[in-house]
Amino acid sequence: MSSARPRVEALREELRRHEHLYYVLDQPEITDAEYDRLFRELQALEAAHPELLTPDSPTMRVGGKPREGVATAAHSSPMLSLDNALNEGELRDFDRRVRELLGAVEYNYTAELKLDGLSLAARYENGRFVQAITRGDGQTGEDVTVNARTIRTLPLRVKSPYPNFEVRGEVIMTRRAFEQVNAERESDGLPVYANPRNSAAGSLRLLDPAVTGKRRLEFLPYFLLVDGRPIFSSHWESLDALQSMGFKVNHRRERCANVDELWAFFASWENRRDDLPYEIDGVVAKVDAISQQESLGWTAKAPRWAIALKYQARAAVTVVEEIGVQVGRTGALTPVAFLKPVVVGGVTVSRATLHNEDEIRRLGLEIGDSIVVERSGDVIPKVVRVEAPGVERRPFRMPAQCPVCDGPIVRAEGEVAARCVNASCPARLKESLLHFSRRSVMDLDGVGEALVDQLVERKYVNSIADFYILTEEQLLALERMGEKSARKVLENIANSKQKSLPRLLNGLGIPFVGERTAQILAEAFGSVDALAEADEEALQQADEVGPKVAKSIYTYFRTPQNQELVQRLKTAGLTWTHTLKVRERAPLEGLTLVLTGTLPSLSRESAKEQIEAAGGKVTGSVSKKTNYVVAGEDAGSKLEKARTLEIKILDEDELLALLRGEELAKKNQPE
Ligand code: AMP
Ligand code: ZN
Repeated sequence: MSSARPRVEALREELRRHEHLYYVLDQPEITDAEYDRLFRELQALEAAHPELLTPDSPTMRVGGKPREGVATAAHSSPMLSLDNALNEGELRDFDRRVRELLGAVEYNYTAELKLDGLSLAARYENGRFVQAITRGDGQTGEDVTVNARTIRTLPLRVKSPYPNFEVRGEVIMTRRAFEQVNAERESDGLPVYANPRNSAAGSLRLLDPAVTGKRRLEFLPYFLLVDGRPIFSSHWESLDALQSMGFKVNHRRERCANVDELWAFFASWENRRDDLPYEIDGVVAKVDAISQQESLGWTAKAPRWAIALKYQARAAVTVVEEIGVQVGRTGALTPVAFLKPVVVGGVTVSRATLHNEDEIRRLGLEIGDSIVVERSGDVIPKVVRVEAPGVERRPFRMPAQCPVCDGPIVRAEGEVAARCVNASCPARLKESLLHFSRRSVMDLDGVGEALVDQLVERKYVNSIADFYILTEEQLLALERMGEKSARKVLENIANSKQKSLPRLLNGLGIPFVGERTAQILAEAFGSVDALAEADEEALQQADEVGPKVAKSIYTYFRTPQNQELVQRLKTAGLTWTHTLKVRERAPLEGLTLVLTGTLPSLSRESAKEQIEAAGGKVTGSVSKKTNYVVAGEDAGSKLEKARTLEIKILDEDELLALLRGEELAKKNQPE
């Protein structure tokens, strides 16, 4: 027997615990870098002692060999679809049928969100994950075991009283992950995914599981089956059981005593659905008692004991009046459709993204056509199809020159995006300055589009480093700039020098380095200098940094223009190093917070969620026991009460700092 076994087992146990803390509970206890160290130690031991390698080891989540052909597998019991109800009347019809079929007995429902992803059946044997199958035609699905292994919220090993079981649920991609995937694809010149669902489905079926692993898919289960059947007496209980087994069960669910409560649940999510981190297309109601489910039975297509209540698609028909192009930070030209304004689900829409030329061709779109525009969540509205060609229509042509700087436009081979290649194109410069100024980046409050436009036009600012040599006289020379606002802007710029290293790295605008990667790099390298010196191989040692990202970072720091910029930022005195800090167990443990008003970027729902994930409590009213009041715009009586009781008042940024476990800056502490 190998002497490495105890250490290997301890490492696996430890890694599993941290994965659960991180991915399911959102409450990491160690930094990503420390996680990596443990992970690599395990990898090394397994490499040295292959006899100890088991398929449920945490190291099996990444790497793995590409799948050969696509295998299929049969389901233990059919994976059916759900009947739909599109309005209240149809819901009541469904309820009436249930009542009639059950006879004179009491029954109630479980209401869950209808996640817009793809369904997956995951099988476990002896508590180990062994197989994952997509729904397919309901009888047989695609075997996606290798890829599903990379989903962090799908536990590879489960402590369960039933040795063999099956979990069915939804694989989804959050909006945020979706936007990241698309941004990356866009800058890679690949076609973008139309929506998170397609992106989730595409990612789960990729040939390379290592890529799937980077897509941050999530699995949220809603059925627990043993031998193809539920084992508890109610659906609600099986959800609870799944949760205690370590699965990430959606906590946004409710027990409803009757159809009125179901309708109320559905209605209550209608407006809040945009605040969710993922997309939903309705609510699923299920008769809760399993015995009643069984007596209701199934049609050939769907269970008679469940219904999907669907939200109206938020789409409308309008006319494309013009197609323009926007120049992004990387110089990529994005065609934008200017629409005859139309109300879509309560919001007036007058532009929609067209992504790139290929997309326009795919749609068969010309200027003057009637189109269907769709809005989902807070993502930019999209043209989904041409409804009717315009009587007077004309095709769109990508301009040969940059609409902003007249520079040459190049569409590199294999790329879908056309780019302005002029490195000093004002449009590119403006976008990078705006990115640097963002609240989540360097937080240069007061530096918005209007100001950046003027700064660039007057050539006061030719790179982000020029922010730090701006003078009050220069600012005062600009339109609509008073002494007070000029001072405020300069103060914010000066304060930004203390912003953390991850923010600065994000602010540099290195292609493929966003908020998350910047955080990882700061933790792995500790300083700008160390990062700038790292070769591609060293860069790839960092978590989630693949060859493409590594190359991009390497190239960035080898470009003379950037070297000069970095040198100037250093001279200006920006934060150059990162202090490794073990994340607190739960930064808000024991604290009670009250939210009031509208925060600039966080929705009420997600602020609450993050506070709770960090161990804090959110209550509805301010009392002496309240530790902090988080106030946004239009805060009302709660804010006044907080002042009277002398309770600390936080803005969104301070809340985010607290959530990250940072100390509040001195100036923000009450006297
Ligand atoms: P549809 O695709 O419209 O036929 O709706 C059925 C699909 O809804 C199922 O196959 C699941 O993939 C999905 N679904 C999403 N959330 C749930 C849920 N909470 N319970 C059951 N099915 C769900
Ligand atoms: Zn240009």
